[in-house]
Amino acid sequence: MTNLSAQLRDKLGRNFCIKSLFVCKRLESAADNTVKYLYGLDDGNHIESVLMEYSYGNTLCVSTQVGCRMGCRFCASTIAGFRRSLLPSEILLQLYEAERNSGRKVSGVVLMGIGEPLDNFDNVVDFLKILSCPEGANMSLRHVSLSTCGIVPMIYRLGELDLGLTLSVSLHASDNESRSAIMPINEKYPIEQLMKACRDYFSVTGRRISFEYALIDGHNDSRGDAKKLAQLLDGFNCHVNIIPINKIKERNYTSDRKAANRFRQYLEDLGVNATVRRTLGADIDAACGQLRREYEI
Ligand code: SAH
Repeated sequence: MTNLSAQLRDKLGRNFCIKSLFVCKRLESAADNTVKYLYGLDDGNHIESVLMEYSYGNTLCVSTQVGCRMGCRFCASTIAGFRRSLLPSEILLQLYEAERNSGRKVSGVVLMGIGEPLDNFDNVVDFLKILSCPEGANMSLRHVSLSTCGIVPMIYRLGELDLGLTLSVSLHASDNESRSAIMPINEKYPIEQLMKACRDYFSVTGRRISFEYALIDGHNDSRGDAKKLAQLLDGFNCHVNIIPINKIKERNYTSDRKAANRFRQYLEDLGVNATVRRTLGADIDAACGQLRREYEI
């Protein structure tokens, strides 16, 4: 920018950087307009975002880290391990680039891509502040969901901030034995501590929590599992979102919509509020993190 003085350019160069992010791969679903982006970062790393079309608008699922250190057994994002956390700008750029590339306005964001948002707490909170700021994307945090595998102390910190977003908790099991078998974080913060943090979060924020329950054949899908889940959530104003497990090639976990609907019925019989998550972009496949894995191998 030769219209700026050499001195100012030098000062800007020393104090600021302009981060960029570029589309490496773009997969568009013919069935429902879902677009999956593989983005390249400045340092050669890759992350993913998914743009989904709903009747009420477009929602973008963003990544918060390159890889993940949580080690959930069924998740493709964790298999190659953890590289680094994303900066607030790198989370935000996923939104701006998706809007620019697709020509579609994004009205909601879910932090459910690669990474554990609460393992990158400060940068994620900065991102949320810029996202909701009138000089930024000016998006109401009522249109934002943050998903966590259950880092208990960070759930308390998030509750104190009372940002107005929706907290999703990846529960996926209703007792410690079966949860620890698929989610190592449960060894550190077992279900009792997690549920207490969730109930306290609700008391402080008044925001209803959504519990994610990825159904795995023969592991967490029996009527007995539904009964234990109902007991765990007894008297709690919350919602259960059942997800038929997305098969990844490194693991042998399976499930289908039929099993998910059956499990939803079990829960309904027990008075628990539950829905089965709609499947979008089935023809472009790739469970979260899978695209990056394939690209980097
Ligand atoms: N780390 C955060 C957010 C990223 S994952 C978390 O754990 O919540 C977003 C959601 O997708 C989580 O509920 C996660 O458990 C789920 N998930 C990961 N791999 C999956 C798979 N193969 N099939 C179905 N859901 C999966």
